[in-house]
Amino acid sequence: MALTDELIHDWNRAAGPELRLLGRPMLDDETLRDGLQSPSVLDPPIETKLRILHLMEGLGIDAVDLGLPGAGPRAQADVLRLAQEIAHCRLRIRPNCAARTTEADIRPIADIVQATGVEIEAATFLGSSPIRQYAEDWTLDFLLRTTERAVKHARSLGLPVMYVTEDTTRARPEVIKKLYTTAIECGARAIVVCDTVGHVTPAGVRALLHFVHEEVVKPAGEPIRLDWHGHSDRGLAVANSLAAFEAGAQQVHGTALGIGERVGNTPLDQLLVNLRLMGAIDRNLGKLKEYCSVVSEAVGVPIPPNYPVVGEDAFRTATGVHAAAVIKAFRKNDVELANQVYSGVPSHWFGIDQKIEIGPMSGKSNVVFWLEKRQFRPTDELVERILSRAKQADRVLSDTEIFAICGEKV
Ligand SMILES: [Zn+2]
Repeated sequence: MALTDELIHDWNRAAGPELRLLGRPMLDDETLRDGLQSPSVLDPPIETKLRILHLMEGLGIDAVDLGLPGAGPRAQADVLRLAQEIAHCRLRIRPNCAARTTEADIRPIADIVQATGVEIEAATFLGSSPIRQYAEDWTLDFLLRTTERAVKHARSLGLPVMYVTEDTTRARPEVIKKLYTTAIECGARAIVVCDTVGHVTPAGVRALLHFVHEEVVKPAGEPIRLDWHGHSDRGLAVANSLAAFEAGAQQVHGTALGIGERVGNTPLDQLLVNLRLMGAIDRNLGKLKEYCSVVSEAVGVPIPPNYPVVGEDAFRTATGVHAAAVIKAFRKNDVELANQVYSGVPSHWFGIDQKIEIGPMSGKSNVVFWLEKRQFRPTDELVERILSRAKQADRVLSDTEIFAICGEKV
């Protein structure tokens, strides 16, 4: 047992396992589709998309939405190139493509399968809530006929189908049941329950997925994969996704940094961190920061400094009390201890170091530690000089500023 297990009383496990899973939790990366629907992003060049694809593979992400080839020639060319890369490099990641429930959207997916020999799931989506039906003047009969036509068409082209109902978290139970049952009868083997508008809470996720499991999946009589697709409008996407896994979802969708429509999708990076901390997955996440940084740069959306784990400030402190505890732990030569004494997330699991800095809230130990780390002798006089400068500052001192104080003649 690690030393920290004796030193941390884990209330998360007081009532049993932190996450009760029915199987291995799988993830579908929507960065290159839903992520690129964010109004703030740039659509990156294909070379960058290929790099992102390899980073997804490296993080053990199970599936990827390559895009919506029905959107136009550029989207189609990018999806084709990504599928070729999967074939060429024999990647394990399973590709899928979004498609509206129209022949014009489904056909290009079949063409790409034909050209590459890579199996691609067609994720055909359709609105399902009464509010959407009312706004669009859709009758249930129209939705059922559209579902039947689209799923049958995709199956006739040899495509596996994951059938997606938009706005499921605000749809009536009888409509949900009819739509999914029809899709399954027509050959869909995966269904995706969506919180398209970011409406649901964890209690709603549990109720909805139990309903779908009991009323649709079980009676189907054959294996049907159940997916969850959530959005962050209420800031609950990660909690909802964890609730979805517990309520029987086998695969959860998300994007790097949660970029996507409006305020975005479930942040896959944060989901990976939580699944790892909860012991639900055991894989090397040392490239998590690179994955997030590459996506951030590629789409032109900066990572906020206070973003969990991969934000600049996630493992950085200048506060005297915090730093003193961390430094004492470092002095015991125990990285695990040092990285957990003031953080719920051990930075070394993600290949990141803690940073001790010097600012107006710092104490003597920050300065001594900073100097020793850079091979300076922490004489009382030097420590005092740096500390008094820090106390007059209105922010944390930069390394350059501290080096300059070290080099000053007295
Ligand atoms: Zn979405």
